[in-house]
Amino acid sequence: MAGSGKFFVGGNWKCNGTKDSIAKLVSDLNSASLEADVDVVVSPPFVYIDQVKSSLTDLIEISGQNSWVGKGGAFTGEISVEQLKDIGCKWVILGHSERRHVIGEKDEFIGKKAAYALSEGLGVIACIGEKLEEREAGKTFDVCFEQLKAFADAVPSWEKVVVAYEPVWAIGTGKVASPQQAQEVHVAVRDWLKKNVSEEVASKTRIIYGGSVNGGNCAELAKEEDIDGFLVGGASLKGLSLRPL
Ligand code: PGA
Repeated sequence: MAGSGKFFVGGNWKCNGTKDSIAKLVSDLNSASLEADVDVVVSPPFVYIDQVKSSLTDLIEISGQNSWVGKGGAFTGEISVEQLKDIGCKWVILGHSERRHVIGEKDEFIGKKAAYALSEGLGVIACIGEKLEEREAGKTFDVCFEQLKAFADAVPSWEKVVVAYEPVWAIGTGKVASPQQAQEVHVAVRDWLKKNVSEEVASKTRIIYGGSVNGGNCAELAKEEDIDGFLVGGASLKGLSLRPL
């Protein structure tokens, strides 16, 4: 753990679940023994946030999986930051690779979303990460720094930002980055923050890893100095890997 604050474990449920399966997940989480020195956050699909909020222990905070870039209004299909707050969310995930590469969101737009969410008091889980071909072409740092710069250009403060390094080739594939691969990028991200934002932001910001994290590999990854937590997709639907370390 290198950033300040608690180890951060987020569960990104993506577009999964039904009322029943989510009730079961919440009940598992409510009976899990949570460590006091870990921040646990879950990110249900929007339509189940209210159900989760009203049944989940207050020890676990709730995140949206996306938010609109400004104040709500005539934006069919979008969810505003104000609505997320109204329904009890404290966080929002922005720049997730599925939104970048499946939906087509661009850096600048994502940066603006982050700035707006922060200005309204939400914490932002700011995702970055390279595709396999970019890693193979030796462009991992360039890609991550470009995505990071778009956040840095837009956000007024880093106090409520958690950076999630999620290599696209590791997301949902079962191919987790090795602890060394993840650590190398986390160090580079911290160094970029130091040079381009400030020494204070670099030392305080939590940099978490995401991409096929599960109960079996999380302990090894967490040993790395600069891995300050995880963003967990598939395994968080099984409840298990949300158990803090
Ligand atoms: P995964 O997803 O754990 O299923 O790889 C991680 C994420 O997309 O946040």
